[in-house]
Amino acid sequence: MSTQTQNVTAYAAPAAGAPLERTSIPRRAVGEHDVLIEIKYAGICHSDIHQARDEWGGAAFPMVPGHEIAGIVTAVGAGVTRHQVGDRVGVGCFVDSCRECENCRAGLEQFCEKGMVGTYNSTGRDGEPTYGGYSTHIVVDENYTLSIPEGIALDEAAPLLCAGITLYSPLTHWNAGPGKKVAIVGLGGLGHMGVKIAHAKGADVTVLSQTLRKKADGERLGADHFYATSDPATFEQLAGSFDLIVNTVSANLDLDAYLSLLKTGGTLVNVGAPADPSSLNMFSLIGGRKTLAGSMIGGIAETQEMLDFCAVHGLGADIEVISADRINEAYERVLASDVRYRFVIDTATFASA
Ligand code: NAP
Ligand code: ZN
Ligand code: ZN
Repeated sequence: MSTQTQNVTAYAAPAAGAPLERTSIPRRAVGEHDVLIEIKYAGICHSDIHQARDEWGGAAFPMVPGHEIAGIVTAVGAGVTRHQVGDRVGVGCFVDSCRECENCRAGLEQFCEKGMVGTYNSTGRDGEPTYGGYSTHIVVDENYTLSIPEGIALDEAAPLLCAGITLYSPLTHWNAGPGKKVAIVGLGGLGHMGVKIAHAKGADVTVLSQTLRKKADGERLGADHFYATSDPATFEQLAGSFDLIVNTVSANLDLDAYLSLLKTGGTLVNVGAPADPSSLNMFSLIGGRKTLAGSMIGGIAETQEMLDFCAVHGLGADIEVISADRINEAYERVLASDVRYRFVIDTATFASA
């Protein structure tokens, strides 16, 4: 592909809730600090579905989702020093930020005070709409492009760029490790990476899933214990058990019930992003000095740290690779909790679709 502005093949939602269809989108010319990436694989995150259906509000269409991108650098701008042609690289949920605010300077670009530039459904610093990873190529500033270590296959690496970092960051921040009892709520794309990473960090890991349907998988992924949340006995049995609970569920849960599972001083971190507000009884926090927290992806340096950690521990996502013509079907299966454990689109199928 040329380094000048060019149209590339992509899959887009033309309007809120409409099925995704094949289309063509512009990619900017490769600037001095840009890399041109030939996308090989793009993961399907539940956030793609929330946004393609405009469940969070303010969505712009046509929308090309995809913020779990893995590919190969095919051209670099004259000033690029971090990446070379042929490098295996990844792009996550954002492609730029102001680079000057307190958060950007602290490596917390995801919380940029001027607003990070989302990989899609956002506006670039050039004023143009951003389009995500369900496409054949993307042009990204070198500083917002990650290196994928040799030990991780590109298709299994793609989901790490969102699901991986979204769990790695809170598990690290709240010290999941030896001697800590950690529960992961929801065994989907995020949850299954949470189990793998918490286990690799040495924590005692429990999965709280709606049913026992995924029990064998959970144990294979590294869980020490597995409980069904549809069974009320689970909440009696596990009361006061956990130092840390990470909730990955895309719908609102009964927060009071989950807070009751924490030890004194424990923390419930929400990474799931339901559209509707939640409520809770303050006594669920007061009685036990408990913390209710949230966390969103991770900064660039921490994302690289996560990729390196995954390579050392031999971790990639458990994936089902699909062709582009199955994106809409995959969305329905994610909504039905029927994903083991991340759909990844093979962009080689874009041309023939
Ligand atoms: P996912 O693959 O659909 O996994 C969510 C899991 O939650 C499901 O597999 C299911 O697991 C459980 N679940 C679903 N509906 C439920 C319900 N009504 N009640 C109880 N459990 C339910 O989704 P994902 O890609 O992991 O994303 C999960 C959420 O995180 C989404 O809201 C997404 O937008 C958000 N997200 C946030 C961040 C962040 O930075 N904070 C980053 C990425 C995604 P079981 O079958 O095991 O019950
Ligand atoms: Zn995501
Ligand atoms: Zn900033």
